[in-house]
This record gives sequence, structure tokens and C-alpha cells, in this order.
Amino acid sequence: MTVLASERTALFIFFGGTGDLAYRKLYPSMFNLYKKGTLREHFAVLGTSRNKLTDAQFQEAVRKSLGTTKTDKEAEKFISHFAYEAHDVTDQAHYSVLKDRANELDKKFELQGNRIFYLSLAPSFFGVVAGYLKSEGLTDSEGFNRLVIEKPFGRDYDSAEKLNDALSKSFEEEQIFRIDHYLGKEMIQNIEAVRFGNTLVESLWNNRYIDNIQVTLSEKLGVEERASYYDNSGALRDMVQNHIMQIVSLLAMEQPVSFTDVDIRAEKVKALRSLRVYNVAEASTNFVRGQYGAGDEQRAYRDEDNVPHDSTNETFVAGKLLFDNYRWSGTPFYIRTGKMLADKFTRVDVVFKKPLIDIFSFPQNHNAPLEANVLTMYIEPHAGFSLRLNAKTNGQGFQTAPIDLDYFVDDADSKATPEPYERLIHDAMKGDGTNFSSWQEVSYAWRFVDQIRKVWDLQQPQFPNYTPGSMGPASADELIQRDHRQWVYRLNK
Ligand code: NAD
Repeated sequence: MTVLASERTALFIFFGGTGDLAYRKLYPSMFNLYKKGTLREHFAVLGTSRNKLTDAQFQEAVRKSLGTTKTDKEAEKFISHFAYEAHDVTDQAHYSVLKDRANELDKKFELQGNRIFYLSLAPSFFGVVAGYLKSEGLTDSEGFNRLVIEKPFGRDYDSAEKLNDALSKSFEEEQIFRIDHYLGKEMIQNIEAVRFGNTLVESLWNNRYIDNIQVTLSEKLGVEERASYYDNSGALRDMVQNHIMQIVSLLAMEQPVSFTDVDIRAEKVKALRSLRVYNVAEASTNFVRGQYGAGDEQRAYRDEDNVPHDSTNETFVAGKLLFDNYRWSGTPFYIRTGKMLADKFTRVDVVFKKPLIDIFSFPQNHNAPLEANVLTMYIEPHAGFSLRLNAKTNGQGFQTAPIDLDYFVDDADSKATPEPYERLIHDAMKGDGTNFSSWQEVSYAWRFVDQIRKVWDLQQPQFPNYTPGSMGPASADELIQRDHRQWVYRLNK
């Protein structure tokens, strides 16, 4: 058989293959990989779920998810690699049918026994499926066997550990790919390039020159149709434990020995180990939560469909993180995330210390005090950087003012940027775990977050406490103002 150098060979078995995520993200991402030549002749997809579908019906649903018609030759070739098997994941005996189907596809498309089991299912099934995949022999093929699992990975440290113990009975850590789709975003990956590719940046990347770092993941929408899940999760579990902790560890870690998954993860874990786990008093002081009330045309969270009227679930979190290590001691990381905020964006603001002496604003100069240099990494929706410097204003006299050096990815490049899932599926095929969460990262993140949760569960919050379209409750501003600082992104500057 001939396999092109860029082509990857694997059988994908999607559990939950008729779900929202599969149709909306996974199959379109795979089609992009097909168009780029990463997937070509030697791949196949076996969709499974409880729904009774024929291969043709499944292919029709996939066609719909791609937005193509039967006249699109390329799409039709891609779809011809899709097969379907109705399967209840709790039905142990039926795994032998899946195994036969997998072997058949393996032979037909010459897949070298390479298998990716993608669990796009409710997390309560993750352990069961992993166990049966092994006990029923689906992982016995001679190629690689990898398990890709969706979030959430547990709802606290204990449940995450239990889940991990269950998975590790069947799969080694290097075979498990825990999805955190933020890690698939182009600009998140750029954090490492900017940090370790520039002397200018890396030499200043410590507590001597950086005053504080701010990470904001702001959502404009409310809870939408995810209320029943979200009301049991909240912003702390849904956004902080995974996405924010991942971003923070990329910002805080030391330079890895090499740019490989093993070395990068080792440094991220080391950073997370030095994150201060708060006691009760520290958790109460350093974290605040919020829940949105009603706005002009917006219902309060408690009035949303499927949300209990007395819900104490948080739709907003802000906090201060402290690393007890040589690089970061004394430089806080402020984080915030929430729903129904002013705008949808993700950004990192790195605020440098001001010059020790401001020679320009001695009384006789009448100059406004120098502002801090700020390096902003815009993650989404528009990817780019901005570096705020102080410079002399044009003209007579000597006045300074901040100027911004901006770089934004242009529209053509933005369109060509791979979707997070496209990148992550590609990485899973390569066996590259860099952009997935390792068990150690997940476990340290839970240990930190659990402390906050524990304290909050003992206190009755005063909800609702922020209005839609704002940047969260007043307490989020007070949290940072107490330290004589301000959020770089704020409304009504
Ligand atoms: P969904 O409810 O739309 O789909 C679930 C799928 O699981 C369906 O195909 C269903 O038939 C199948 N299923 C349920 N019980 C089954 C059983 N006993 N045996 C076999 N199949 C069974 O869910 P979704 O939104 O696609 O989410 C899937 C996973 O992805 C979840 O873990 C979710 O947390 C995660 N996730 C989803 C999104 C998203 O945008 N939808 C985003 C991030 C993470």
C-alpha cells in the first residue's frame, strides 16, 4: 500500500457519534483534514450510538453536517469512509459486533490496526467504555490504540481520580488524550512561541519586571440550552478548572528542555505544583463569584429555562492566583470569566512594572505619570498582540503618552487557521499530547479549585449581583483594586 508522507492512517470509532459535538465540530473538522490531505485513502470512521441507523442514513446525516450535497465529489469520497453501528455502550456482549466491524474496516481501508476511540458521550460512560474496549479485545489490534475523551474530567479531585483509575486499567497515560479545546486555539499555542522565541520577552518574564498578569475569558451569551448541565457545574468547574488553569500554566511554566509533549507537560505540572492552594480565609478573600440578574431584554439566570428559581450557581468567577516559586513570588495572576458579560473575547494582559523613577513627571514638567507597559495577547475572536509603550508626543515641549504597537492576524490567515478540533484530531493521530491535558495537570487543577468550591459551598451568596452587559459584579473590581491595580480591559475607562 502507498501512504502519502502527509497522510495519517487510522480508524476512528466515535462513541456518541450522532451527538451535537460530533455533527457540529468533529466531522466538519475531519473533512478539513481530508481536504488538506492529512486524511486520504487510509482512514475510516465508525459512528456508534444508541440510535438505529443504516450506513446510508448515517452518511446522509454526516453530509448534512458538512453542508454538502451528493454532487460534491470530494465530500462524497470522504463520506464513503463512514460506517455506522448501533451500539449501547453498557451492552458488554455487543462490543464483539463492534470489533468485527472495526476489523472489517481495517482490512478494507488498510488501516494498519491503528485505532482512535473518541468518547463524545456523557462522562459517566467514559470508564465503562474504556473497560469494555479492553476486555472485549478492541484494543488488541497491532497498531496504536488511543483514547480521546471530552470534558468534563470529573467534578472534583475525588471523582476525577476515580475516573482516571478506571481509564488507566485499560489505557496507559500516553494513550489517553483529554480534550481541552482551548489548547487547540492558535493563539494559545502562540503563548509558547512568544515567550520562548523572543529574548526581549523571556528575559523580562518574571517577578522583577512583571507586576501582574490578567487572564479574561468573557462570554456575551447566557446559559443558552445548556442550563441543566451548567447549573450543576458553574463557571468555576466549567471554565476555571480546565481552560483558565491551562492558560495560566502555559504563562507561568519554565522553559521546557525541548518542544515536545513530555517536556512541556513536565514544566506545566511543575508550575501547577507551586500554585498556592488556598486555606479557607485565603479562598474567601482571593476569589469572588457572581450570577447575572435581569437586563433590559434579558432574563435573570434564575429565570432561564431549566434553572431552579433559587439557584446559587455562579455564572461568573474572578480570582487571584499566587505561585510560590522563584520566578513568580509576589506577582499575582488575576483571572475572570463569566456569562452575559459586555463582549465575547479571550485575552491575556501582561502588565509590566513601571520604571523605578519617572524623570518626566517632576513637577516642573507637568507630564502625566508614565503608564505601565502592557503586552496583550488577543486569543479570540481577533487573534493578535499589542505592546503598549510610552513615547514622546509629537510637537513642542516634552510630554509622554502611551502608544500601542499592534499586530493582528489578517482575515485571510484567520480563515485558514485550523479549527481547534481539526488541530486536536490531527495531534491525536500523530500521538502528540502537547495540546491535551495530562492527568497530573488535571489533578493539580482540581486540588486548587476544590478548595474554592469547598468554601463557597459553606456560604450563601448574595445573588444575583451583576447586570448583563457589564464585566461582572463590583466585587471583581474590588478584588484587584484592593491591591492598587486595575483590570486592563474595563468598561468606561
Ligand atoms: P449529545 O447529548 O448531543 O450526544 C450524546 C451522544 O451519546 C448521542 O449520540 C447519544 O445517542 C449517545 N449516547 C447516549 N447514551 C448512550 C449509550 N448508553 N450508548 C451509546 N450511545 C449513547 O452530547 P454532546 O453535546 O455531543 O456532548 C458529548 C460530549 O462532549 C459530552 O461529554 C460533553 O460534555 C462534551 N462536550 C460537548 C460540547 C458541545 O459543544 N456539544 C462541547 C464541549 C464538550
